[in-house]
Amino acid sequence: MITKEQMIEYLQCDISSYGFQDLFDLVISKQNCVNCGACLSICPRIGIEENKPTLIDYDPECSLCFKYCTRTFFPRNFFEKEIFKERIQKDSLLGYYQKITAARSTDNNILKNAQNGGVVTSLLLHALDTGLIDGVLMANKDERWHPKPFIARSPEEVRNAAGSIYAMVPTLSTYKDAVCKYKIENLGFVGLPCQIQAVRKFQLWPPLSDKYGNFKLIIGLFCSSNYSYDSMYTLIKDLIGISLGEIKKIDVSHGKFIVYLNNGTMKEISIKDTNRYHYSSCEHCKDYTAYFADISIGSVGVPSDNWNSVIIRTEEGQRLFNDALTRRKIIISNNIDPNKIKKASKKKKMQMTETSDKIYSALKFFDVTKLEVKTYTTLLSIGEADLFMLRDIMKLKPEIIYNIIKKLKQRKWIFKYQNFYRPINPSQVIKNEIDQILTKFKNYIDIIKSKILKDLTTKFIQNNLMDLENLDFMDIFF
Ligand code: SF4
Ligand code: SF4
Repeated sequence: MITKEQMIEYLQCDISSYGFQDLFDLVISKQNCVNCGACLSICPRIGIEENKPTLIDYDPECSLCFKYCTRTFFPRNFFEKEIFKERIQKDSLLGYYQKITAARSTDNNILKNAQNGGVVTSLLLHALDTGLIDGVLMANKDERWHPKPFIARSPEEVRNAAGSIYAMVPTLSTYKDAVCKYKIENLGFVGLPCQIQAVRKFQLWPPLSDKYGNFKLIIGLFCSSNYSYDSMYTLIKDLIGISLGEIKKIDVSHGKFIVYLNNGTMKEISIKDTNRYHYSSCEHCKDYTAYFADISIGSVGVPSDNWNSVIIRTEEGQRLFNDALTRRKIIISNNIDPNKIKKASKKKKMQMTETSDKIYSALKFFDVTKLEVKTYTTLLSIGEADLFMLRDIMKLKPEIIYNIIKKLKQRKWIFKYQNFYRPINPSQVIKNEIDQILTKFKNYIDIIKSKILKDLTTKFIQNNLMDLENLDFMDIFF
């Protein structure tokens, strides 16, 4: 497991000299950028062109954009240890958590504008009220649903931003202003699972964490997929036949994409029909419940849409939630079905688990079975899984999956961390396999040359030396 010292060494490593080109090659051009805005905030030389981070000035290769990008190196073991205390339970589909509950705001004004139970707004207001935070990085929209990252510093601003947007927002692009311009000392963040890794890096990774990493509350929103503003605009126009300006509220619930219009009517389509409009990076995303948040909030698993499902993960999250509960800012109910959240989480994880025949036919050269390749590529796609989850996804008997895992571990294709199996980097795996084949190959050649050839030659000489046509070949042997 990576230690804090190793991580600091990595972060301060000059030899790496990563710059924007690396960010572009490994994240942006690979359709892995989630438009979180972290790089825009860190570096004045990065701007946005055609909705993508773009270098607009000379790049001194300071590495910060690469290191703090939400999609680059993120040593989960380190973060898990720093964020979650050891006694917290971990579930492969829900992540670390202390408690899962249904909750709802007690404030009717909040409920009127809230997406569901208004718990995000209530908790933020309570955090501002009690001084836990002085401002929140969050998203808002204009009347045409144009998403806008912004810093809410007053209860009114938090209240005005209630409701989901369903479009990618570079929420973290306001981070610099929050700490440099407004000098906010205790920050809150509300955002998507994919953005939270950058927030945790700001919070815990030096050098930025030492000076600016003052996030005191991180709220994650359940997310199965998202849209860019442009694709949302087209989707609404093509599939529903209206413009975004006519919409009061958008909701995704029970397999439906629902829009509530300003004129009081409602239209809905199947969520499946919206798939082709999804933001491309969402295809690689496996985090439904925002594993690294203090508190994750959604609406799956509760009996009705005016409640929230809440996963309380960290002690900080637990303290705030309990305090808001004690002061009757929110109420809770046991009427929640975590299995429904698990089901949604599993569905998201499994979206990339197909193994192509091309991969299998190439890798079978290494003398591995199709199931072994499938198990490895499944772990590559979902990141990690325990035995139960793998058995479930692969639809295999326990003893079969156990043997596959054992073999993959011996061959160093995967490793175990706590109760979870994780894939080893494919370049390392392929290199090991090729090295082994070369070693084996060399051993065979040595045996053939030193022993087998000698035996054959002796036999040849013993029996064929008298034949004239073989004399030409004698040079080879003497
Ligand atoms: S930091 Fe965010 S916006 Fe910048 S490249 Fe990475 S994912 Fe994209
Ligand atoms: S699906 Fe993943 S990548 Fe896409 S917006 Fe949601 S959390 Fe981000």
